[in-house]
Amino acid sequence: MTDDRKEQGLVIDRAEQALYKTYNRFPVVFDRGEGVFLYDLEGNEYLDFGAGIAVMALGYSDPEYNLEVQEQLGKLMHISNLFYNQPAADAGERLLKASRMEKVFFTNSGTEAIEGALKIAKRYAYNRDGRGGHEIIAMRHSFHGRSLGALSVTGNDHYQEPFAPLLPGVKFAEFNNLDSVKALVNNNTCAVLMETIQGEGGIYPASEEFLKGVRALCDDHDMLLILDEIQCGMGRSGFWFAWQEYGVRPDVMTVAKALGNGVPVGAFLACGKAAHAMKPGDHGTTYGGNPFVCRAADTVLRLFEERHILDHVNLVGAYLWEKLEEFAGRHDCVTVHRGKGLIQGLEFDRPVGDIVKRALLEEKLVLISAGANVIRFVPPLVITQDHVDLMLEKLEASL
Ligand SMILES: *Cc1c(COP(=O)(O)O)cnc(C)c1O
Repeated sequence: MTDDRKEQGLVIDRAEQALYKTYNRFPVVFDRGEGVFLYDLEGNEYLDFGAGIAVMALGYSDPEYNLEVQEQLGKLMHISNLFYNQPAADAGERLLKASRMEKVFFTNSGTEAIEGALKIAKRYAYNRDGRGGHEIIAMRHSFHGRSLGALSVTGNDHYQEPFAPLLPGVKFAEFNNLDSVKALVNNNTCAVLMETIQGEGGIYPASEEFLKGVRALCDDHDMLLILDEIQCGMGRSGFWFAWQEYGVRPDVMTVAKALGNGVPVGAFLACGKAAHAMKPGDHGTTYGGNPFVCRAADTVLRLFEERHILDHVNLVGAYLWEKLEEFAGRHDCVTVHRGKGLIQGLEFDRPVGDIVKRALLEEKLVLISAGANVIRFVPPLVITQDHVDLMLEKLEASL
């Protein structure tokens, strides 16, 4: 055994001893990243089509991004929300410009963005009715995070059951089935929450009819439409936010993952009647929106604009689509191909765990699954057609 391999094994042993075991991790220790490649402690190079779960949109070690966050690190990291800071104003303005929303609140994670969005919905309905007791409609097979509020609206019994009782007043409809949503609406309903493209659930885009129908339903019943763009937002669909393709606008939306390109930052945004529902004192965070994370978010948003990332996603996304269509045509075990831009999924007629593992350990290709039977492709948004070709060679060899 080489020394490097021994060292890698040692790190794994120490991590298993120290870290609370809520994950079954793959036996690889990543040490550094460069562009769309990762390197383990043994020096092996991996092509990354997972991007740290749709986070590393600009890839690893982008020089311009690194320079900005390093400069901020040397200047000011944190001061609390009792004071103002310039990066928060900068990042906030850019995010509003990209989304055409009106107000933004920065959080530390996706799940916290969901918590804030749920609080807006409850507060809005409380202001309207002068009482509590409101209900939220969420979708089956959704994923919104692991904190208790977000878990309450995550339509997955397996995740929920051990932690019950959860938030009361949550009902689950079937994604892309407007009648199933209508059937759950009553005088107490304050919001409908869904991902514009379901991510963890297996890469299911909302149909246009469904999203427009839910928007109209929310308008008719004075309910808020909350769209979770944590995974499908930030350019991944080929639009800044996936809902922009549909010609609807949510009242509240959540963002995280790619927003900080690795620095933990999320946000919830609101507009129209939702923009002023919460008042000073209703919500807060110690870290959220500090100058360090906001400088990172501001830089990500600026680099997206300067480098025309959306155009790039549309080009490479179309190429990936074509190549995965060909792949699906060659292999009977692939049953469906879904997605948009650089959030695509291949559904297999069997669990994909073995393929994902072989891809990683033998072909040095980082892939992630979405549910048991779907391989999801959420690479850094800066991948090129050559990377797509290389990925397909490695995927082929992993079958
Ligand atoms: C990842 C994810 C979340 C949770 O984000 P965390 O940062 O892990 O808390 C919520 N919603 C969607 C759609 C996600 O993909």
